[in-house]
Amino acid sequence: MAFAMAEITAHERKQDAGECARSASAWAASASIGDSPISREAALRFIHCSDSELPHLLAAAKAAKEKFKPGTITYSRKVFIPLTNLCRDYCGYCAFRRDPGENGAHTMTPAEVLEVAKAGEKLGCTEALFSLGDKPELAFPQMRETLRKLGYKSTLQYLEAMCGLVLRETSLLPHPNPGLLSAEWIGRLAAVSPSMGLMLETINASLLSSGAAHDNAPDKLPAKRLHTIEEAGKQQVPFTTGLLIGIGESLEDRVDTLLAIRDLQERYGHIQEVIVQNFRAKPRIPMRNWPEPSLGEMLRAVAVARLMMPGMNVQAPPNLSAPYYDDLLDAGINDWGGVSPLTPDFINPEKPWPHLEQLRRRTEAKGKQLRQRLPVYPEFVPQVLSRSGLLAEKLQSALAPDNLAREAA
Ligand code: SF4
Repeated sequence: MAFAMAEITAHERKQDAGECARSASAWAASASIGDSPISREAALRFIHCSDSELPHLLAAAKAAKEKFKPGTITYSRKVFIPLTNLCRDYCGYCAFRRDPGENGAHTMTPAEVLEVAKAGEKLGCTEALFSLGDKPELAFPQMRETLRKLGYKSTLQYLEAMCGLVLRETSLLPHPNPGLLSAEWIGRLAAVSPSMGLMLETINASLLSSGAAHDNAPDKLPAKRLHTIEEAGKQQVPFTTGLLIGIGESLEDRVDTLLAIRDLQERYGHIQEVIVQNFRAKPRIPMRNWPEPSLGEMLRAVAVARLMMPGMNVQAPPNLSAPYYDDLLDAGINDWGGVSPLTPDFINPEKPWPHLEQLRRRTEAKGKQLRQRLPVYPEFVPQVLSRSGLLAEKLQSALAPDNLAREAA
């Protein structure tokens, strides 16, 4: 079901604000939306809601966000460090990965890592987002050779060293996204980064079947990803995860993916952020002709995420919903994710981030203040500070009094 968000907002704007608020609260009451997280049944109903119901769903989600974190939208000012774009998986929607020898294939040297991090530091960045393919050395002898020359046995060992380098030599805090991790590696990376992430993406294991999005992507087996997120929970590592919509999953799968994340949060309390990311078609990917989810689908997914998890941080990347990205604020997000003033989005290179000043203007136009946060969210800062050593020291020196980022002048 595709429709233009502009039509919704035009319709909403025509209504008297008081009347709209009254009808939204009457709808919320009739839909049994209170302060508690909504049930699976309610989430399924809402994710299927009609266009005429959508403004009410959005109003309920926006109200839930305002109860959770009133008046503020956060973002993390980051540099993107694509440590290696070699990957042993072949996801159908991925424009990032390369095989060895392919045009653009690259593993960064320590000097390149430091150069990007220092340039970001000058621009007031506080996050070094390490993105990389999943264990490429298991598939490619060329990567084993690259690592040997660099002095490391595995990509994760190299990542650990580069997180340590950035932590020692700059004021940036590393946030690694290296794919599946064992309990041991979660512990090792947690010593050099205050938070880390792994997108669950979807709970639907049938997407690994022939011709589907995760065909030939063994690391995308949902059970393996849930296991990594759970191990991080056992070690109380602040963790970012989320779902990817529009890759062949059903609306029911979207709800069940959010439920799985909520379940992990209820058991371990370590999920610091839930990302709702929409698939975008790109020229060089296998799924280049796959239909993109509409903005309406995206807004429903975000609003349902907010109502299922009213007390959790919900994020959606602005560059993937441009030019209507500020409509995501109406669906209950409280964060824009990482936004770089320096490096492009290497995962979606054709979709540049909005300029920070534009992001601020459009956030303020919705009546919200834009604040810079660190890669670790404020409510998770105390547990990282309780670890001793360089990581806690660096985190402490980057903090504002309210545990957001001490902003650059
Ligand atoms: S999405 Fe991640 S795991 Fe999949 S191919 Fe790209 S880099 Fe590899």
